[in-house]
Amino acid sequence: MLKNLLKLLFPDICYGCGSLLIKNERVICTACRHTLPRTYHHQSPEQNEIHKKFYGLLPLEFSCSFLYFTHKNNVKELIHNLKYRNKTAIGKELGMIYSSDIRKVIEKYHVDCIVPVPLHPKRLKERGYNQIETFAKTIAETCKVDYNPTILYRKTYSKTQTKKNKESRQMDKRNVFAVQYNKENEGKHYLLIDDVLTTGATLESCGNALLEIPNTKISILTIAYTLS
Ligand SMILES: [Zn+2]
Repeated sequence: MLKNLLKLLFPDICYGCGSLLIKNERVICTACRHTLPRTYHHQSPEQNEIHKKFYGLLPLEFSCSFLYFTHKNNVKELIHNLKYRNKTAIGKELGMIYSSDIRKVIEKYHVDCIVPVPLHPKRLKERGYNQIETFAKTIAETCKVDYNPTILYRKTYSKTQTKKNKESRQMDKRNVFAVQYNKENEGKHYLLIDDVLTTGATLESCGNALLEIPNTKISILTIAYTLS
């Protein structure tokens, strides 16, 4: 009874377009699901625009983004809701939708473990959650690979480091991630997952940190890719 009343007062809306969800729809409405601007990178995981972007920067096995991010499409609203409004169900939902496409790629390339790009501890404290977690976990669960959110972490800065001049801080930006690993983590294929790929600097830095683990292979997956 109370549940019905609450539903009447606060009906479920689509996090992509804001329209009312009807029976059997959840999180993202049918219209938005059908119009998601897919990249289809999974059909050519070594021959696509983002794989080429990292060419010469990071030795990647494969690279895929699920969707295109533009200021006109529903992806912007979905990512915004996921990132800033605590709507973590979006990550799970997108993960479920994408897993049917990406499963074959993950199997073919023998991915062992999924690693989410970590948030800075200060940001994590403010936000209370890492926005990429539900998406990354859902991909790991549905594709039956390990999930490791602790192997990669962001270094925290000391006061002396923050005093450095702009140029050297810029240099530090490339080196903000580090790994903590043991023998068991060696010789694996890690799939790094992030929300939006723009310049690729964060993923490059994460990838370089993971490559410090002996005999490691890495690949990249993001929910969205910003068209420049
Ligand atoms: Zn919608």
